[in-house]
Amino acid sequence: MMSKQRWIIKVGSALLTNNGKGIDQELIANWAEQIVHLRDNNIDVIMVSSGAIVEGMKRLGWEKKPKDIHQLQAAAAVGQMGLVQSYEILFSKHDVHTAQILLTRDNLTNDDRYENISATLGNLLMLGVIPIVNENDTVSTAEIKFGDNDTLAALVANLVSADKLIILTDQNGVYDADPRSDKSAQLIHSIAVDDERLTEVASKSGGSLGSGGMYTKVTAAKQASESKTDTQIVYGREQNVLTRILHGEHVGTKIHC
Ligand code: GLU
Repeated sequence: MMSKQRWIIKVGSALLTNNGKGIDQELIANWAEQIVHLRDNNIDVIMVSSGAIVEGMKRLGWEKKPKDIHQLQAAAAVGQMGLVQSYEILFSKHDVHTAQILLTRDNLTNDDRYENISATLGNLLMLGVIPIVNENDTVSTAEIKFGDNDTLAALVANLVSADKLIILTDQNGVYDADPRSDKSAQLIHSIAVDDERLTEVASKSGGSLGSGGMYTKVTAAKQASESKTDTQIVYGREQNVLTRILHGEHVGTKIHC
């Protein structure tokens, strides 16, 4: 029997909520179909999904992202319901269950908890369940925050020694210059994680909805490489993006170890 691979698929807030308009059910349905295909091809999948705060803001009728941490936490608690409902409903159409895993940074720095989380994830995968991971925003304050879910996804990749980290985002990948200001900017198809160009080109500015920009994605790729995990940053709406990666097609930017 072929040995199983483990892929972490990270979904950003702006993409998942269609820029704050609300959880994009069609998009999740589309990924669910592809993820079921990945599993049929011996790939276990863990999803790391953002979007709780943005979805919560929408449900509460807030137009502006609050600065107050407790308001953000409240929005996350409301929005997380929508997130897990959507994943469970759309995966259940394929007779697949999902599971909610909420983590804080200090969970991963404590040895016992690290072991527990790793064992739980292993069991869920063995049971054929798709874990949906997010930061536990209710208890996360500045000191214990992952900062962004790109980092969280990389740490989960380390935790389960993932083969691949796929970051689904609203951009095509990493460019050799800032495509917003430089029309001649070219998409980088493949680059080694220790290539110096990578840090130079990763723009520090993020979008207004999620908390990570390209810089945090490149940093996450470096973190992921510690467990020999390759990272692929791709546009999440690209048709069949996940199955095309499975079949070895060039999509987005591959950051390899
Ligand atoms: N945990 C946050 C949320 O679900 C997202 C953090 C991030 O996007 O990096 O809204």
